Amino acid sequence: MNNRNFRRLLTLAFAITVSATASASAVKQTKGDFEDKFRQMEEILPTPNVYRAATGEPGEKYWQQKVDYKIKVKLNEEKRRLDATQNITYKNNSPHTLKYLWMQLEQNKYHDDSIAEAGTAFAGIGRRGPATSAGGNGKPARLSLGELRRQQFLADNELGYDVLAVRNSKDRPLKITVVGTNLRIDLDRPLKPGKTVEFEMDFGFNIVEEDAVSARAGYEHFPDDAREGGNDIFLLAQWFPRLHAFTDYEGWHNKEFIGRGEFTLEFGDYEVEITVPADHIVSSTGVLDNPRDVLTSTQRKRLEEAKNAKRPVFVVTAEEALENEKEGTTKSKTWRFEAENVRDFAWASSRKFMWDAKGYDQGGKDQPFVMAMSFYPKEGGDLWKKYSTEAIVHTMEVYSRFSFDYPYPTAQSVNGPVGGMEYPMITFNGPRTKLQDDGSRTYTQAEKRFLIGVVIHEIGHIYFPMVVNSDERQWTWMDEGLNSFLDAVACREWDPTIPWGVEPRYITSYMKSNVQVPIMTQSDSVLRLGPNAYSKPAAALNILREVVLGRELFDYAFKEYSQRWKYKRPTPSDFFRTMEEASGVDLDWFWTGWFYTTDHVDISVDGVYKLRMDTKNPDIDMARMRDIENDKPQALFLKKNQEAGMKTWLESNPDVSDFYDENDRFTVTNKERNKYNSFLKGLKPWEKRVFERAVAEDKNYYVIEFNNLGGLVMPILLQLEYADGTKEDRYIPAEIWRRSPKHVKKLVVTDKEKELVGVVVDPTWDTADVNNENNMYPRRIIPSRVEAYKSKRSATGASRDIMQDIKTKLKTDEDKDKKKKESESETEA
Ligand SMILES: [Zn+2]
Repeated sequence: MNNRNFRRLLTLAFAITVSATASASAVKQTKGDFEDKFRQMEEILPTPNVYRAATGEPGEKYWQQKVDYKIKVKLNEEKRRLDATQNITYKNNSPHTLKYLWMQLEQNKYHDDSIAEAGTAFAGIGRRGPATSAGGNGKPARLSLGELRRQQFLADNELGYDVLAVRNSKDRPLKITVVGTNLRIDLDRPLKPGKTVEFEMDFGFNIVEEDAVSARAGYEHFPDDAREGGNDIFLLAQWFPRLHAFTDYEGWHNKEFIGRGEFTLEFGDYEVEITVPADHIVSSTGVLDNPRDVLTSTQRKRLEEAKNAKRPVFVVTAEEALENEKEGTTKSKTWRFEAENVRDFAWASSRKFMWDAKGYDQGGKDQPFVMAMSFYPKEGGDLWKKYSTEAIVHTMEVYSRFSFDYPYPTAQSVNGPVGGMEYPMITFNGPRTKLQDDGSRTYTQAEKRFLIGVVIHEIGHIYFPMVVNSDERQWTWMDEGLNSFLDAVACREWDPTIPWGVEPRYITSYMKSNVQVPIMTQSDSVLRLGPNAYSKPAAALNILREVVLGRELFDYAFKEYSQRWKYKRPTPSDFFRTMEEASGVDLDWFWTGWFYTTDHVDISVDGVYKLRMDTKNPDIDMARMRDIENDKPQALFLKKNQEAGMKTWLESNPDVSDFYDENDRFTVTNKERNKYNSFLKGLKPWEKRVFERAVAEDKNYYVIEFNNLGGLVMPILLQLEYADGTKEDRYIPAEIWRRSPKHVKKLVVTDKEKELVGVVVDPTWDTADVNNENNMYPRRIIPSRVEAYKSKRSATGASRDIMQDIKTKLKTDEDKDKKKKESESETEA
């Protein structure tokens, strides 16, 4: 899913206090307040076993289930309804005997008694258009019109599966039990390890209106289309009952679907027959099996042309789509798609779609050729024509470098009512253009960035989690965090001048805030999903790559993770272990700090001391001490007496004086010179060499004092600034905080001529340090702004002058037209 979508769903500015000290490393280890930030994660990670190895790779007895689906589905456009029959083959590769199977019934989430609906709090986080707090202060609470629309839609429509019947291979009914969004099927006889069971299932449901319920799929209605009654775009996902995952580490993953935590599924092969109105264009997971039945010869020819085209070729042009959406038909066509080794299946259908395509030759032996395609209505316009398919190809180029070749024959982007959502080979993306009065369509810079960013993000999901099949229901960060990290790489390779939002500097205000839970929190319980599961883990990985490991080690380890878990099911520990094992760097402190705590980064540099090595020669050292003494400022008392021309008693009585008036306390005696000589004589030859060299070199010894105010231990990126105008970068690994996590000093030695004038920690803002001002020594004056403003005299209520306002004339549409004409003639002049 797309972060922006969530930003839309969530509203800002809820003050929620959390205490999050869930980390094992918070356990006290000494009597004092010392805390070991480097405790080894073996204490908290699951014990390795034959299914999941200590190396972070699949163990020698790793297994996963396989589920194949054959589905025949019919879209009833008038009723906005799906009816289908599916034949399921379930292969039990586990070592367990299964008496029952669990399936997911996501459509049941829209029952008003579902946990999702009944369990939604008023004015809570995670609801589109939420209300502000009710009552008490005399002000009304708020309900958005969007929220009212949702409530009305749920009240007016019969939602969830209203047809649901399961039969065994002998066509006899199997006992089923519906538990919210879950379905248990009791098998006729237990399914032994290695065995397969086949069953058939009828299902049907009314499709939700995506704009009303925000469901990741559904229909969108276009009432203004030329066709009588308008047209719809149908996006179908989470539409067929799917097998829950059954795994070595959790058994059945039958945690209720409440909307946030997405899906975890089994891989399998699909044959799907989709019957839709004959004038619809269908985009779907998989490869079209029967182009001769559903495409014209011109369309097939254009598809062929697109294979080697430099820019996307239209299979259905804008003009053809516009013509198409005027009519309608009572006839239907059946599109047949096949997909191998996918974890889900989604599709889209509409007579509004134009369709462009461009081949991508990625080489390699697994999938040398991929067809990139986009489907969009006129509302997508020029924005989509230019960028959607190109962004698909760019994504594959970048992601494959970090993981593996794009593994499927098609990669598609479909414009519909969903802001951004991913399925195998197909993604739903929301950006649109705006129709202007002159008939043209324009788009804002933000819509353009949204389109490029969201297509890259959602196509990126086809790698994570569609192929690297992590458990989204549990850990949103495992797909969104990794994917956001990579989409930012791809986005910045597209155009780095755009602030894509995952640079460490953008996560600092969230990391300071009190609406945090550790990244390692189950998806539905996360307070702010956007920063917690997208930006923070993405920023963390960015830091790991650019700051901690360096690109070579990081990229090697990340690729190893991707390839180890391609078409398999990794857990967080598999990721942590692989990254550590393949890079050869102990990262336990990093995972602990970033993923298991709510600490933030704030390293402050609070003092720099310059030390000079004593020569031990009293004639030199005493003179230096005299200089230091003379450099001290004179007190006001003495200064003012001198300015007043006052003479001291000593000055007035020069005839009364002694030895101490001639010699100060730094005067050197032979007693000290003898001591120095005997010190030199007492040194062994190597000691003498070392000492004399150190004195001769007369290096600068600087002690720099750091405080860790944020709690998160991090490497210190230190920039030294010298008097000669040069700069030098030094890297202090995080391990400096090992024995003293809050306060450390570091000795920095420079050549005599390299006089230090300043130090800066993290000068490029690459560690998510929340306060860059305390990263400088000496501190600087902070540039900021002030704005003059005019104060308002009257209080809000007093401004309503009814006596005057009652005279106001009621505005009509004619007034509006007149005003518009006036402004047009002004422009012409
Ligand atoms: Zn996403």
